[in-house]
Amino acid sequence: MKVMARKDVIVMGNMDYRVLLYYKFVDIENPELFAKEHLELCKSLGLRGRILVAEEGLNGTVSGLKENTDEYMRILHEDPRFSDMTFKIDEAEEHTFKKIYVRRRKSIITLNEEDDVNPQVKKGKYLKPKEFYEMLQRDDVVVVDGRNDYEYEIGHFRGAIRPDVKNFKEFPEWIEENLSEHKGKKVISYCTGGIRCEKLTGVLMNKGFDEVYHLEGGIVTYGKDPEVQGRLFDGKCYVFDERIAVKINNTEEDVVISKCSHCGKPSDRYINCTNDDCHDQHLCCTACEEKYQGFCSEDCVKYIQEHPERDARLRIKEKLEMYDKYKQNPRKAQYFRRCIDKANM
Ligand SMILES: [Zn+2]
Ligand SMILES: [Zn+2]
Repeated sequence: MKVMARKDVIVMGNMDYRVLLYYKFVDIENPELFAKEHLELCKSLGLRGRILVAEEGLNGTVSGLKENTDEYMRILHEDPRFSDMTFKIDEAEEHTFKKIYVRRRKSIITLNEEDDVNPQVKKGKYLKPKEFYEMLQRDDVVVVDGRNDYEYEIGHFRGAIRPDVKNFKEFPEWIEENLSEHKGKKVISYCTGGIRCEKLTGVLMNKGFDEVYHLEGGIVTYGKDPEVQGRLFDGKCYVFDERIAVKINNTEEDVVISKCSHCGKPSDRYINCTNDDCHDQHLCCTACEEKYQGFCSEDCVKYIQEHPERDARLRIKEKLEMYDKYKQNPRKAQYFRRCIDKANM
């Protein structure tokens, strides 16, 4: 996972780009062919991102220039299978992905075969942001975060249960072991953009929960809702692109809930370990990044003493030299400044 660490070298620009997040559970008859043609479409529009195609549907997130993302949405909405697909749209200064991938998968949200559910047949009831906000404040409701533990760490809804899972596949077992005592209560779940809850709610129903609800459009939609404005969401929302985390709570209640892994002070900065063979994403405040030079641990410091060629700073140094060389040429210099920023990831 990539992290932008040196905020000081980000080139500030206009918000000419957009990031789209979308999914649809719908039968796709020939996913191989679909994926192949879809990749061509994305390339022709200069889009970057990650798209999964399976017989059960489409799941993607892409970045691109505003006019190109408009065209992409228009083309997909023309296809009867995706005519009602919702796109969550964020503004951005630049691409938030390096490349475009369109992958054919067995499923767009993966569970073990014995646990799998079909959201077209079984899922919980949708809650609009306002309804979700009201449910959050009730006593007879169990709030389940449908994401992984490291996503929960940096931000979550107040009062939500922290799932002890590193992978979505682990949810059915985790539910069995941890939620049985809550049977009989209402359960509400949420995830980043809503897709994981499409299956998670079905799993909960299969495990004997009768009243299961999920947040329509996920956390990102909740943050944009003019009425709730992200209220009761503490911290930031982890995203799977180069932004790492985005702001959700747009009210005076916005807080930082995660802590620097070195000093324990509040911090929501994820950086990658300077040891390229570790590359562990860890929470680190700016002061500690300087103090520990981006290493996650003593072990990684020692490792680089023995394997200096695996030091991420070497890569950055090369780009800095190129930047200096091309200072007189603003276009080229800007290119290398971006590289420096990315090399920090
Ligand atoms: Zn610190
Ligand atoms: Zn490390």
